[in-house]
Amino acid sequence: MSNPVLFAEVIIPLALPKNYTWSVPESLRDQIKPGVRVEVVLGKNKKYAGVVKRLHSEKPEAFEAKDILNILDTEPVIFPQQLKLWEWIARYYMCSEGEVMAAALPAHFKLSSETVLVFNEEFGDNFSTLDHDEYLVGEALLLKKELKLGEVQQLLDSHRVYPVIKRLIEKKVCFVWEALKETWSPKKETFVLLNAKYDNEEALASLLNDDKKLQRAEKQLELLLSYLHLVKTQGEVTKPELLKKSGASDAQLKGLVDKNILWLEKRQVDRLQYLPRNIQIDFELTPAQQRAFDAISEQLVSKQVCLLHGITASGKTQVYIKVIERYIRQGKQVLYLLPEIALTSQVIRRLQKHFGGYIGIYHSKFNQNERVEIWNKVKTGELKVVLGARSAIFLPFTDLGLIVVDEEHDTSYKQQDPAPRYHARDGAIYYASLFNANVLLGSATPSVESYFNAQSQKYGLAILGERFGGVQLPVIDIIDTKKMYGADKNKIIITPPLKAAIDQSLAQGKQVILFQNRRGYSPYQVCQVCGWIPHCKYCDVTLTFHKNTHKLHCHYCGTVYPPVHSCMACGSDKFAQRNFGTERIEEQLEEMFPQGRIARMDIDSVRGKTAHDNLIQQFEQNRLDILVGTQMVVKGLDFENVDLVGILDADSLLSFADFRVNERAFQLMEQVSGRAGRKDKQGRVFIQVSNTQHPVLYFVQQHDYGLFYQQEIEGRRMFFYPPFSRLIQLTFKHKVKEVAEAAAQLMSFSLQGDFGKYLVGPAEPVVNRVRNQFLMELLIKLPKDGELIQRCKRFIQEQVAIMHNDKRFRSVVVIADVDAV
Ligand code: ADP
Ligand code: ZN
Ligand code: ZN
Repeated sequence: MSNPVLFAEVIIPLALPKNYTWSVPESLRDQIKPGVRVEVVLGKNKKYAGVVKRLHSEKPEAFEAKDILNILDTEPVIFPQQLKLWEWIARYYMCSEGEVMAAALPAHFKLSSETVLVFNEEFGDNFSTLDHDEYLVGEALLLKKELKLGEVQQLLDSHRVYPVIKRLIEKKVCFVWEALKETWSPKKETFVLLNAKYDNEEALASLLNDDKKLQRAEKQLELLLSYLHLVKTQGEVTKPELLKKSGASDAQLKGLVDKNILWLEKRQVDRLQYLPRNIQIDFELTPAQQRAFDAISEQLVSKQVCLLHGITASGKTQVYIKVIERYIRQGKQVLYLLPEIALTSQVIRRLQKHFGGYIGIYHSKFNQNERVEIWNKVKTGELKVVLGARSAIFLPFTDLGLIVVDEEHDTSYKQQDPAPRYHARDGAIYYASLFNANVLLGSATPSVESYFNAQSQKYGLAILGERFGGVQLPVIDIIDTKKMYGADKNKIIITPPLKAAIDQSLAQGKQVILFQNRRGYSPYQVCQVCGWIPHCKYCDVTLTFHKNTHKLHCHYCGTVYPPVHSCMACGSDKFAQRNFGTERIEEQLEEMFPQGRIARMDIDSVRGKTAHDNLIQQFEQNRLDILVGTQMVVKGLDFENVDLVGILDADSLLSFADFRVNERAFQLMEQVSGRAGRKDKQGRVFIQVSNTQHPVLYFVQQHDYGLFYQQEIEGRRMFFYPPFSRLIQLTFKHKVKEVAEAAAQLMSFSLQGDFGKYLVGPAEPVVNRVRNQFLMELLIKLPKDGELIQRCKRFIQEQVAIMHNDKRFRSVVVIADVDAV
């Protein structure tokens, strides 16, 4: 009997409704296995490297399966657990496994006819190690610098293309170009070096004792001595370290550099490689932390997931470190998730200190070589701890023991665009379950969903209710802005009580953080005669004036317009500026506190790669007094010397038309407040608001998460919102308003039958046009019945397919967002 024909279900990185099947030619049958990449043709001549999901012998009915052309890997690059995670995400978040694959794999693993290869200049032109085919392509790359895979196909016999490319990438002759992706340049740091001519004792002694110019500059001499001391104790010294530890100024250092005694050298900081592989725990948990640690350990025996509810500055990170240590000592791997890794260099530094060479960092902004390197080290088990943002859940762990989800409430864990629109916390819980691994969620302000799960015993709960060092949570003052106006009859930016408090903090050498969730200068300009407001041409939003570019910006599509001087409707040149953004605040602060050292932190001010980190370090080193910023100033930062926090316009947080408005407002305000008075002494918080009776303010003032939760959960129950229901949000986009509306109506109509009672809408969203596309939304609030939910998702997908077959609706984009945040 001959072997049955073998078929392979292959995932390719596209948004196809389902996976396709190819047949496995006789010659490849011995090598093929699930998890390896294969080269396949789709359609006429589009080629892809896809991942084999399953081998079987069920001949496809509807079409003649084509042969797989090549196998690229001898060993699987994707493990069965990862394939299961992809499948789960695709099913749960209503997208294709190919879309998950596209998000999950570093570019190196994804090849298609569209892929562009870029010559690696560092490789040079020594091609002696290349075989005939590799040489042909290598030479073409050397000449043209870039080649599309389609062009490579023309150079070689088409049966060999992908294996050749794969080898060239592995030999680092070329890279895969990732369009639109900012490449992350490795972190650079300035190191301080001693001029080589003072390397011998004699020369150094004569410099220190006899150099006249240096003798006169006493401060510089002191600085030089601290430098020499530091070099002796720690080997290398960075500029910020030197300034911090010696207390010297930039100018004094510059003096030594000008005298050619010290040199400055900007150099890449090696993040991982050379740190020793050992665990170094040089601190003790406090009794309260120890109790939380014990509770976590106990809960995780019987429960997969445990929530650590620890107030701000209670030392959650220290508890995580101890928990992580336990798992590594058992030989397990640990994934540490952070909402936005670019914003958390502080945590990275803290973890590196304890886990040295065991730790790796995985980040979508790292370049692909670094990502592949981490990928491979996770796979071999060499790395024990990986710190990453949401895409790190796709790493190929072999022996995962624990996932820590820090700041688990943070909405950055949910991917918005493009698909897969997954929530990394929830994906992590599923992924961990495949390894029988534990998950530790942590937050000072847990999401309502997670807290509900803890209350209903699905998750364990551990509580850390006191700050490290016994410092009290800050006192909160609520300032009623109703009767206060600025000089220009506008909303007041800094009220007199806040100003007085800032003065006091500065006088005591303390630092201040001010929070405003709008960037730019003036988010709103109104014609004083007719009320006309400048809008974006492509979006239904008002434009924000940015002083630094002197332009009007659309924060939705990024279009920039010249400033308007006269009203487009009535010609008047009188504009009122309503509301204020961070730029305007910064300007006002500079007027109010001419002596203060002020900086702004928002995406406009930290565009450069290291700008953000530099700003944080400057603030840490007390070289700034006041930091004003958007959400960025909130995220998990730990500054010792901040004793005052101001929330400048709380009304803007309390007025969103969304069922999560209270949760978000509470989280934000409690988290920003948490930056004040973290060490030594109780801090103060001022909240400027006109709607002073809003209940959320009371919860924040009392720092009472429990009370907030009780009220919130009742509202959710009453109005059937999560965690009591599951939300699927459908968005319909089209350049013609009526078409978007009709599409939404049609979907709503089809859903009426089985799901009518769960529908809300269709309705226009608050911003109903973005990038010249009109938007309509339809919300489905389903009871938590797995079977019903799955049926509804399938039904929606079928209806979308039917809709796209109708030529009126062919170009309507339908976006499904499950558990939208
Ligand atoms: P959280 O993450 O809960 O906001 P952190 O972990 O940032 O709190 O801790 C706040 C500060 O207190 C940090 O500077 C941290 O180093 C310090 N700290 C907390 N617990 C300890 C401990 N047991 N020993 C030494 N320092 C600690
Ligand atoms: Zn006007
Ligand atoms: Zn726009």
